[in-house]
Amino acid sequence: MRILSGIQPSGALHLGNYFGMMKPAIELQSQGEAYYFIADYHSMTSLFDPEARRRYTLEVALDFLACGLDPRRAVFFRQSDVPEVCELTWLLGTVTPMGLLERCHSYKDKIAKGISPNFGLFAYPVLMAADILIYDSNLVPVGQDQKQHVEVTRDIAAKFNDTYGPTFVIPEPLIRAEVAKVPGIDGEKMSKSYGNTIEIFGDENVLRKKIMSIKMDSRTPEEPKPDADRNLAIQLMKLVAPPEEAQRYEERLRAGGLGYAELKRALFGFYWEYFAPARKKRAELAANLDYVEQVLREGAARARAKAREVLDRARRACGLS
Ligand code: ATP
Ligand code: MG
Repeated sequence: MRILSGIQPSGALHLGNYFGMMKPAIELQSQGEAYYFIADYHSMTSLFDPEARRRYTLEVALDFLACGLDPRRAVFFRQSDVPEVCELTWLLGTVTPMGLLERCHSYKDKIAKGISPNFGLFAYPVLMAADILIYDSNLVPVGQDQKQHVEVTRDIAAKFNDTYGPTFVIPEPLIRAEVAKVPGIDGEKMSKSYGNTIEIFGDENVLRKKIMSIKMDSRTPEEPKPDADRNLAIQLMKLVAPPEEAQRYEERLRAGGLGYAELKRALFGFYWEYFAPARKKRAELAANLDYVEQVLREGAARARAKAREVLDRARRACGLS
């Protein structure tokens, strides 16, 4: 079984990325042949600062390795080190109905947020289909926001197979319900491009302030809160605290008498402790960047060999020499 997942170097990685995609991907790395990549081509649809792209790419590599991606098990690489994926994007684009892309929520949501769309953002799902299909991937661990894109990938693969004969493996998304959509500090989906993130790593005081600024309602501490399970701090606490601790805070909130400041301070404590081992590992990796670069280079060589094989299969199928 081949497992594939990618993450954009479009900003610092956050709890949504970690629980929605990185943690499941890391847990799956010994279950099959895992291919995990830094989606630097994808980041070009929304980030136009080359220095920032270089910096975020390195940071994503450090973050993923620090969180437990094991390069002896998983093939870890930069998307743009396998330019074959761009050629496959063209081949796939020619069998992709416009309507399929026009219906994509992620594209529509980004426009609604005032992000001015370019052709790349519109074509993003076709590049993503190429990412998945070029490695004959079977399973794609993603957050809920990417479910539709995996469905689009399946449609494109089926269309190509129909048109030119059996060529691509049809992949399945893997979405864990409990972390499908981690909320940001404003209650919307936590997203690098929405400015509502809690990063996995960073300065302690900055992160404490962010957690203290999580949106709450205006009820007094004394009031009982029957909807305690919908409280943002409680939802996030369930991800990073031992279950019985999170349960205890939820019950105190429900009963009334727990202030929001105390709740958020406790959340910060659990969160800071949860990532302590990864933080230590990250500092070690940051002092050994040659190793990180070597991991990505070796990953790219392995990924590229597989990509070449599938691209050649696709070229032959559609009559290119
Ligand atoms: P951008 O805002 O630039 O799109 P992003 O924060 O959405 O960035 P991506 O790189 O697009 O991050 O997504 C990487 C992976 O993380 C995807 O599998 C995506 O589904 C998952 N993911 C992102 N945000 C969340 C979230 N809030 N909850 C669960 N999964 C998420
Ligand atoms: Mg996204």
